[in-house]
Amino acid sequence: MKLDRRWTGLVLALTASACASTGSPTDTNNDDGGGTVDDDGTEAGPDTGPNALDTSSSPGVEGSTEGPGPDETTTEMPADTTGGSDETTGGVDFGEVGEPSDLPVPPTTGIPQPSGTADGLEVLDWAGFGSAVSYTFDDANTSQIASYDALQALGVPFSFYLITNKPESNDDIWERALDDGHELGNHTQSHLNTGQGDLAADTDIATQFIENRFGITVYTMAAPFGAADYQTIASTRFLINRGVGGTQVAPNDNTSPLNIPCFIPDPGAPASDFNARVDTGRTTRTWHTVLVHGFEGFPAEQAFQPVALDQFEAAVNYAKDFGDVWIGTVLDVGAYWIAQRFVNQVVPTTSGDATTWEWDLPDFFPRDQFLRVTVNGGTLRQGDVTLAWDEHGYYEVSLDAGSLTLSP
Ligand SMILES: [Zn+2]
Repeated sequence: MKLDRRWTGLVLALTASACASTGSPTDTNNDDGGGTVDDDGTEAGPDTGPNALDTSSSPGVEGSTEGPGPDETTTEMPADTTGGSDETTGGVDFGEVGEPSDLPVPPTTGIPQPSGTADGLEVLDWAGFGSAVSYTFDDANTSQIASYDALQALGVPFSFYLITNKPESNDDIWERALDDGHELGNHTQSHLNTGQGDLAADTDIATQFIENRFGITVYTMAAPFGAADYQTIASTRFLINRGVGGTQVAPNDNTSPLNIPCFIPDPGAPASDFNARVDTGRTTRTWHTVLVHGFEGFPAEQAFQPVALDQFEAAVNYAKDFGDVWIGTVLDVGAYWIAQRFVNQVVPTTSGDATTWEWDLPDFFPRDQFLRVTVNGGTLRQGDVTLAWDEHGYYEVSLDAGSLTLSP
């Protein structure tokens, strides 16, 4: 059956915003902490409200196609999660049923296909990894641009949240970042706090800038100052809003996707501060996001709580070296987490000895996304495509297909 909750978002309402563009790159260099706000953990805005995910109801896609694809492996860098290329079959556009996903491959290997009874469907947490981390950069600061090559050399995808009235947002580096598989998200046009103006219009101007300049769809935003007003704004525009605050997110928990928490390291924080979060994530099998505004050595940019680049690099390498930590963009990890939650809410139907799960994608959910699942045994199909077992320990389920059937 269908989901029991509704995603409240409507259609993108970019209307009024277009005309407003002031074009004046004011100085918005300030932090998300703006002096009083947002440090890790406290302040501005209800960070942990039990807002359940309102899942959705947009048109699910039916149908099936293409034969079972080969077993995929080895892409470390999940490129292209926005915009992907859907394939069309029979007039239905949807995401590559039976084809390998762009998700990174976990270290598990050589796992035999389950051969027991046709039951026990389980969505793997974090795509088969033990935990997840997303590194985010806010404010389009100069030091991020200057450090881009070093960041890219780390070989993991990041999420960059641009303040679009800053000249730095026009830097060619962001085009490169997209090509390299990183995410660009909305940090608004002029970084307003509550009471400073029309936050919604300011958000929409930033979306238009990013979409026009880079030709992408913007799926996630980061709230300036973590201001709570942006949660409402994001609810009708984005899949995810990253707020502030320091908690971690667990599979199937009731964290609001409109207020994803993050860890903001202290100024000059050593790698060990980041590493402690990774350790906690691995122990508790959770996801956390890290928010860095800039790197030391660029005083003019006035980044909020800059850290040393070498400490940041050490921290990312620490997480990478475990092999079981999924380092992904906010969109990639967040979409997986959201999808796991809504698929787990589906009440399946049975027909003969077949059990079928059906779902609709939430509003603002990207195409070409997959979940990894396992079962006790049986055959999994989407439409007429029989899913192939991946020896890393899962079947990959296309979310665009909107249904999954398990039979003996
Ligand atoms: Zn900011």
